[in-house]
Amino acid sequence: MATIREAREALKLYFGYEQFRPMQEQIIESVLQGQDVVVLMPTGGGKSVCYQVPAVVQPGICVVISPLIALMKDQVEALLVNGIPAAYLNSSQNSEQQYQIENQCLEGKLKLLYVSPEKLLSSGFMSFLNRIKVSLFAVDEAHCISAWGHDFRPEYTQLKALKSQFPSIPVIALTATADRLTQKDIQEQLHMHSPNVFVASFDRPNINLTVKPGKDRFNRITDFLARRQGQPGIIYCLSRKATESLADKLKRSGYNATFYHAGMTANQRSKAQEDFLKDDVMIVCATVAFGMGIDKSNVRWVIHYNLPKNIEGYYQEIGRAGRDGAKSDALLFYSYADVMNMRGMLQENQNEAQTELQLVKLERMQQFAEAAACRRRILLQYFGETMQKDCGNCDICRNPPTRFDGTLIAQKALSAIARTQERVNMGLLVDVLRGARNAQVLQAGFDKVKTYGAGRDVSTLDWNRYLHQMLNEGLIEMAYDQGYTLKLTEQSKQVLFENRKVQLVKFEETRQEEPAVKVR
Ligand code: ADP
Ligand code: ZN
Repeated sequence: MATIREAREALKLYFGYEQFRPMQEQIIESVLQGQDVVVLMPTGGGKSVCYQVPAVVQPGICVVISPLIALMKDQVEALLVNGIPAAYLNSSQNSEQQYQIENQCLEGKLKLLYVSPEKLLSSGFMSFLNRIKVSLFAVDEAHCISAWGHDFRPEYTQLKALKSQFPSIPVIALTATADRLTQKDIQEQLHMHSPNVFVASFDRPNINLTVKPGKDRFNRITDFLARRQGQPGIIYCLSRKATESLADKLKRSGYNATFYHAGMTANQRSKAQEDFLKDDVMIVCATVAFGMGIDKSNVRWVIHYNLPKNIEGYYQEIGRAGRDGAKSDALLFYSYADVMNMRGMLQENQNEAQTELQLVKLERMQQFAEAAACRRRILLQYFGETMQKDCGNCDICRNPPTRFDGTLIAQKALSAIARTQERVNMGLLVDVLRGARNAQVLQAGFDKVKTYGAGRDVSTLDWNRYLHQMLNEGLIEMAYDQGYTLKLTEQSKQVLFENRKVQLVKFEETRQEEPAVKVR
C-alpha cells in the first residue's frame, strides 16, 4: 500500500507543491487506505490532486468520470506536462484514436483515464475495465447524479453500476456544489460503503455580498463601476441577447467590455476568454456558460444582472471573484419580474418532478434575495455549514433590520411540525397553524392537533416569510425527497425544549419594491 509520505513526494515531484492543503492530506490518506470518500470543496480548493496523487502512487489506473468533455482535454494536457501519463476517451474521438488509448490502458502505460459517463456506459466498456487494473474510480461533478441537485444528468444515475460491477475498487466522489440533501443522495446513489465525508468550508469571507433592487440597473452598474476603474469583473445575464446588448451599451459609455455565451463560435469564445485572462478586456457580460474552468485569480467583482436560478449557481458564480483572497464584491439585482420570468422558463420544458424541484430552489434563491439575515449565514447554511457569528461583510450586516423576539412564533411552527409528525409541507403547515378547514387538513385529522389554529393572528403571507427565515437559519429543513415536507433539526429542538430564543424580522420593514407574493 502506498503511504502518505510517497504521496507527499509525488506532490512535490509531479506538481511542484511543497505540501498538501490541510484537507487534501486527510482525503488522500483515506483513499490510499481503500476507503470510499466524498469530497465537498469549493472550486479552486484543490480537488483534482485528491485523486491525481493517489493515481500516481498506486499501481494500476485511476478512471475519472467527468461530464465536462470540454475540460477533459485541458486536464489531460496539464497532467502530461507534469509528466503523468494520462488520456481521455469520449465521443469527440474516432474509433482508431479510442482503440489506441484502450491499448495503452491494457499495456498498463497510463495512470489516469478520463471518460464521459456516456462512454463509461457504452457497450463493452465494463468488460474492458475488467481487463485493466483499475486502482480508483473518481466521480467528478458528483452532484450531477442526484435528482435533488441543481444540475441533474440522468445518464449519471447509471454510475450505480460501478459498485455492483467493481465492489472492491474504492470510489471518490467530488463536487463543489451540493446542498445537504444532494450530499446524502450522492452517497446513496453511488452505493458507497460507509464513506468518509470531507466538507471543506465554503466560506469566502473576502467577497462582500450585496443585493439591490432591480430598478435602474444600468445606472446602478455605472455607479458601481465608477468606483472600480481598472478592476476586472463579470456581469451575468439571463439571455445571450442581453449579454450582447449590455456589452454594447457599456462600450458606448466608454467601458472596455465584451460578451460571452454558448451561441458564439469556439474561436469567438476563446478570444473573449483570452482577452479577459490577459486583462485586455475588463468586463465580460456573460451567460452562466462563462467561467467554468477559467482560472483568473484577480476577478474583483461579479454582478448578477438577473436573479440566478438557484443558490448553487449563485454561489458558483460569485465564487469566481476574489480567488486571490483580496477584497471583492458580489452584487445581485433582484426584481420580482425576474422571478416570474424564471418561473415561466422553468415550467416550459422539463418533467414535472424536476420542475417542482427547480421551483423550490428558485424560491430559496428569492428568499435569499429578500432575506433580512446575514446573507453569508444563509449561503453557508444552505450547504450545511453553520456560522457562529454574522459575517460583517454583507449589506444586511452593515445595515441590520430591526428584529423582534419571535420565539413564540417559532415555537408554534415547530410544535405544529412535530404534532403533524413532520409530514406536512409549508403550505399545509400554514393551513394548520391558521386553522384552515380545507379537505387536506380535515382528511388528515390535523384539525385535532393541539396547535391547530394557534397561529391565526399571523397572516399566511407572514407565516411564509417567517418559515423561510427559519429555513435560512437552519431552524427547520425542507425534505425535497419527501414531498417537500418540513423537518425538525437539532436547532429546532433547542427552541422547543431548551428555551433558545429566536429573533425574527418584520417584513414591512424589509420589503423591496415589489409586493411579496408566494411562489408555490
Ligand atoms: P478544484 O478542482 O477544486 O476547483 P483544482 O484541483 O483545479 O481545484 O486546484 C485549484 C488550484 O490549486 C490549481 O491551480 C492547483 O494546481 C492548486 N493546488 C492544488 N493543490 C495545491 C497544493 N497542495 N499546494 C498549492 N497549490 C495547490
Ligand atoms: Zn453578513
